[in-house]
Amino acid sequence: MHKPVVQKFGGTSVQDAEAMLRVMDIVRQHGITRWTRPLVVLSACAGVTNTLIRISELSLREANTQALVEIAQLAQRHEKIARDLVHSRPKLSLLLKSLNEVWTELRRLVRGVNLLHELTLRNRDFFQAAGERCSTLIFAAAFAERLKKEGTPVQWIDSRDFFITTKEFTHARPIPREIEKRMKRIRSSVTNGGVVVTQGFVGATPDGITTTIGRGGSDFSAAIMGVAVHASEIQIWTDVNGILTCDPRIAPLAETIGHVSFAEASSLAFLGAKVLHPETIWPAVEKGIPVRILSSKEPEREGTVVLEDVEQTRPLTGIALKQNIVLLRVSPCSALPDSGTLQAVADALQMKGIVPLAVSQSADAALYAIDKHDVLTELRSALERVAIVEYLYDRALISLVGPGLNANFGIAAKIFKALGRTNCEMISYGGSDITVSFVVPEEKAIRAVKRLHKEFFE
Ligand code: ASP
Ligand code: MG
Repeated sequence: MHKPVVQKFGGTSVQDAEAMLRVMDIVRQHGITRWTRPLVVLSACAGVTNTLIRISELSLREANTQALVEIAQLAQRHEKIARDLVHSRPKLSLLLKSLNEVWTELRRLVRGVNLLHELTLRNRDFFQAAGERCSTLIFAAAFAERLKKEGTPVQWIDSRDFFITTKEFTHARPIPREIEKRMKRIRSSVTNGGVVVTQGFVGATPDGITTTIGRGGSDFSAAIMGVAVHASEIQIWTDVNGILTCDPRIAPLAETIGHVSFAEASSLAFLGAKVLHPETIWPAVEKGIPVRILSSKEPEREGTVVLEDVEQTRPLTGIALKQNIVLLRVSPCSALPDSGTLQAVADALQMKGIVPLAVSQSADAALYAIDKHDVLTELRSALERVAIVEYLYDRALISLVGPGLNANFGIAAKIFKALGRTNCEMISYGGSDITVSFVVPEEKAIRAVKRLHKEFFE
């Protein structure tokens, strides 16, 4: 049997009629094949989820007219996109009717919340889910009109009928076994029937109560659905062309990385690179389904494929920079090296749920690179009870990520050559097979990253 692809588009890719038309072209060219039709997973139009959350909070207030005003504005925005895209009169009136049903439900909910003066997480989820419901309804109707001539049907399906989750409202967890069972029918549709359009982010409990799976959850939805329909590939369409060797605002010659292992993508994200949260696509990667990150602005480019493991010979994959770092320099209260101090520091960090970004240790002191936002009074007092602690503010963490960092001779020499006279205050090398991190003064960081990128990639 031929395997379909899953294509996920984020909020900016469906923000207005023009953007939606671009998505339709992409689905035609990169989703529909001779043998299969794609499963298209959409986010809400850009900004809509935020507005819905605001509306839910407004509805608690005494005068809830503002909530109703904002619903009217959202309704108007969606109606305009619908009118711009759907030209057949009967189809348009059907679509407008479906959209109106969503807004009518929300208006009733606003009144209910206001009457009871209680906004539960369950209610919040019903508000939040409206964005994806509307964007997919419009997209499916508009696309059906365009594909009609080609004889390809488009089917809108409500993710609440199959994307079954736990009942932890606003951050519900998908139940893959249940989803797979319910998606069997959809699987046969996308492998030999029409294009299927559905909502990311939104699901339902086994007894049908609307849930959402956490902000930005559509990538995760796409990954879970991809596994359930046995996809050949999951395409995540964003507005950047895959994962780059460096932030292009720092190194304009940064290039897209063709293939990246899951571990490398995770490290880059953890160490500050602005890439999607790789853990959201793990369910698919783990099952051996390649996840491709692409740009809807440049759909012809290949993007980056994330795989569980990638056979690679290159020493270096990318460079990440994280600013707002504090370097903690911890030494024992006694003059002698003391293993108990390290344990106590580890306990204090763990208690506050803090994972240091990089660590380096010698006989008389240990250095921890930590995000500035984590250095709170509570942590400081916990640490100061067990050790002498110095806080070095205004630092940045630069990390090199790559599969051959340890195996390749001479990498360290190249790094130091590129750093030149930049004072490197801490290095963490060898603790991980695929990363080298070091801390530099913040004002030197951009220049250092530029030089490193030049040394290794240009
Ligand atoms: N619309 C949801 C959000 O903005 C989910 C998503 O876009 O992934 O969080
Ligand atoms: Mg969004």
